[in-house]
Amino acid sequence: MTMYEIINKKKRSQPLSKEEIDFFIDGYTSGEIPDYQASALLMAICLNGFSSAETYALTMAMMNSGDTVKLPLDGITADKHSTGGVGDKTTLIVAPIVASNGVYMPKMSGRGLGHTGGTIDKLESIPNFKTELTDEEFLSTVKECGFAVISQSGCLCPADKKLYALRDSTATVDSIPLIASSVMSKKLATGADCIVLDVKYGSGAFMKTLSEAETLAKTMVDIGKSAGRACRAVITDMNAPLGRAIGNSLEIIEAFELLKGNIPHESRLYQVCIALAANILETAGKGSYAHCEALAENAVTSGLALNSLKKMIVAQGGDVRVADDYSLFPQAAQKREVRSAKAGYISGINSEECGLISMNLGGGRRKKSDNIDFSAGIILKKTVGEHVDEGNIVAELYTNSGDLDSAEKRLLAAISFSERRVDIPSVVAEIYR
Ligand code: URA
Repeated sequence: MTMYEIINKKKRSQPLSKEEIDFFIDGYTSGEIPDYQASALLMAICLNGFSSAETYALTMAMMNSGDTVKLPLDGITADKHSTGGVGDKTTLIVAPIVASNGVYMPKMSGRGLGHTGGTIDKLESIPNFKTELTDEEFLSTVKECGFAVISQSGCLCPADKKLYALRDSTATVDSIPLIASSVMSKKLATGADCIVLDVKYGSGAFMKTLSEAETLAKTMVDIGKSAGRACRAVITDMNAPLGRAIGNSLEIIEAFELLKGNIPHESRLYQVCIALAANILETAGKGSYAHCEALAENAVTSGLALNSLKKMIVAQGGDVRVADDYSLFPQAAQKREVRSAKAGYISGINSEECGLISMNLGGGRRKKSDNIDFSAGIILKKTVGEHVDEGNIVAELYTNSGDLDSAEKRLLAAISFSERRVDIPSVVAEIYR
């Protein structure tokens, strides 16, 4: 077997065997197969596709390229994954809701890059919060608090790490079998019994249409089930940012506000969080969907989820006083109120643009080595479906060093208006079981 033969087969749209896929992943991880051959195969996969058997074999090969984790916990463990969004602080809300209902959530999360944010950066905006724990500290935090959130270990799925960087520079990211195997190899390696995937579609998401999101959801859920895990996907709309806050400390504050009961239940953020938590609880065997939805809502109204989040912040070394005194977060030196030049109903807010504006204000990184300004970002004072009069404040911008004039112009251009009241589609489009 040679890499040349494998590339040639896929170029002719012939299926690859498990042995050929293992040969590719083993050889690429060890450095025996060079980048140029791996790139050629990736492009052939992008153009000619992969069957579900090939996608499953690729996922398992990548999962087995590094460590797999199974924490010794005496109960069901769950994990969630979001395919990337703007303003997505759901982990900070869903994990404490799930944990306060007796399901463990040991979470490994990522950092933000480009227009999307990352849970680890958000948590690091809490003074002294540690996102790197020893194995013992991670386990004891999960046992004590029901959940913990750490940054991903370097030993998990090294094949995916190398391949993802290669895909990023060879225009081979947007392939459903490659995305599905990349995401699922990491989810399976972290050993959770139940996996719930939040698959986003719309501006700011990898999948621009609902039908692409459905295909990705089905591909990932099928992989999870074939690997013996309870797995399902919630397909959600990313045609506007999730919630009103975009930016690291701003999003942590919004998560506290939701858990304090200060965010309306009709809001898109509340709806997505309850749907994700209820799906996790149902998958973990806590009862019917309606019952699990009630359990999730009760964790918020009772304050149990807020306490669970506070407990985890203390266990991971963070200054928990931020929960009741937001002035203890790093503060932005400059603030700008953005006023609408138009009147009408907001029909859409381009989330990718909002993510890029927040990044330019300092809230994100263009390249991996950039530093983050934790205080930077956007608060949307008006959102989709709401009416705006000319001169109303639609947003606030926060920064220490970003260009506020350019951010203001771009933000106003990212908002679309309609003269008539608009029907906003439900944020939770579908559940794929
Ligand atoms: N996230 C991943 O982990 N992998 C992809 O391929 C795309 C998004």
